[in-house]
Amino acid sequence: MHIYPDARSVVRALAPDEPVLLNRPHAAARAARFFVEKFPGKSLYAVKANPSPDLLRVLWDAGITHYDVASITEVRMARATLSEAVLCFMHPVKTSAAIREAYHQHGVRTFSLDTEEELIKIVDACRALDGTPAADLKLLVRLRVSSEYSELSLASKFGADLVDAPALLQETRQHCDWLGVCFHVGSQAMTPFAYVQALERVRAAIVEASVLVDIIDVGGGFPSVYPGMEPPPLEDYFAVIFRASESLPISYSSELWCEPGRALSAEYSSLIVKVEKRRGDELYINDGAYGALYDAAHVEWRFPVRALEDDLIEGEQDFAFYGPTCDDADYMKGPFALPADIQAGDYIEIGMLGAYGAAMKTTFNGFGAAEQIVVEDEPMASLYRGDRADPRGVADNVVSLR
Ligand SMILES: *Cc1c(COP(=O)(O)O)cnc(C)c1O
Repeated sequence: MHIYPDARSVVRALAPDEPVLLNRPHAAARAARFFVEKFPGKSLYAVKANPSPDLLRVLWDAGITHYDVASITEVRMARATLSEAVLCFMHPVKTSAAIREAYHQHGVRTFSLDTEEELIKIVDACRALDGTPAADLKLLVRLRVSSEYSELSLASKFGADLVDAPALLQETRQHCDWLGVCFHVGSQAMTPFAYVQALERVRAAIVEASVLVDIIDVGGGFPSVYPGMEPPPLEDYFAVIFRASESLPISYSSELWCEPGRALSAEYSSLIVKVEKRRGDELYINDGAYGALYDAAHVEWRFPVRALEDDLIEGEQDFAFYGPTCDDADYMKGPFALPADIQAGDYIEIGMLGAYGAAMKTTFNGFGAAEQIVVEDEPMASLYRGDRADPRGVADNVVSLR
């Protein structure tokens, strides 16, 4: 595969008419090494953020051994890509057929649940042919926690309420080898306090249930960096989670897990788009709401942009984007700051699309093809470079773990 230095060189060489996805394996590997070295436990990559097999191999090579999968299709794909990976089926609502195939054909032993019905479904689907119940299950009870500190809520759909959790934990304990508690604070949690609050709820559930817990799984939600969203350093999250989990009423040998999706994949990809038309401060580009810019359209997420022409000289102006389909909803409000003299035929690079960007592409309306190319330059923003200015301004008293 041909590797290019950066987006500009791709435009010069190919002048692409279709959007081009630029992948940065070095950036994803750096993020993975960061979690492997600094998170005080095990890091599972949440495959839904970006299920690219190439990315899975990069993360595996950088030390990520466990993968959070949510559908039987993700199970099959992850297994076909990484034959030795530990797959954890962390969607709390699964079909019996999916559980059966995952357990009996793909070696999945770890499942999450948030109701007794799901527990029974898992126990039944994992029985041996002669009806013997599985003795090697790792079952995690998902607790409902607040999403108030996150940009995207995951609070309303899944999770046992605190009133139901103790009985469910006790019941689940009877059927598993390892018992865990998990939760998800919502995506792009902008403060480590989100996890402290969730872990307080975990404490209440464990105390009330009075069961032995082997795994505390703090889920995903670890942020990346976007325009207008500068989170504190990830070390702060890790330190706060470590301290809060150390004080839980669990055995010394229990494990701490996390499930980062966004934080491991956001820096992996950017996208080259072409301006097809300009109307005032609106640019009609060739990718959009049904492509990699789903979040830009539907939750008005802002992504960093830069023009890829050398001849644009005028100062910056704020633009909105229209995508290529015929749908009015194919609109990205931005604002996206670009040179004021940008026009049809020019190219733009949109950064930080490795998480929930590349993964969201559809072929609606006949658009959506995107070539993928590896580039070697830095992502437009990074939490892992080391030279990032500390958004807290001054070094405060948060202790680093190592
Ligand atoms: C989506 C999801 C994740 C990943 O969340 P991020 O915010 O991308 O880190 C992890 N665990 C579960 C169960 C999820 O549904």
